[in-house]
Amino acid sequence: MKKMRFCSVCKRYTLEKFHCNRISISAHPMPFKSLDPYGDYRRAVQGVDVITKDQYAV
Ligand SMILES: [Zn+2]
Repeated sequence: MKKMRFCSVCKRYTLEKFHCNRISISAHPMPFKSLDPYGDYRRAVQGVDVITKDQYAV
């Protein structure tokens, strides 16, 4: 079964790996991993103050 993909050029969903001569991106979210070694860095990039605001920080 083919997975839905998204063409970032024409902003449309497609089943093709290439669309508008560009590779399309997966329309499905990344699989959830509780062990996210880069989670703090990712949240820091998003502007979240990981030191004081992250109640789930270990
Ligand atoms: Zn396209």
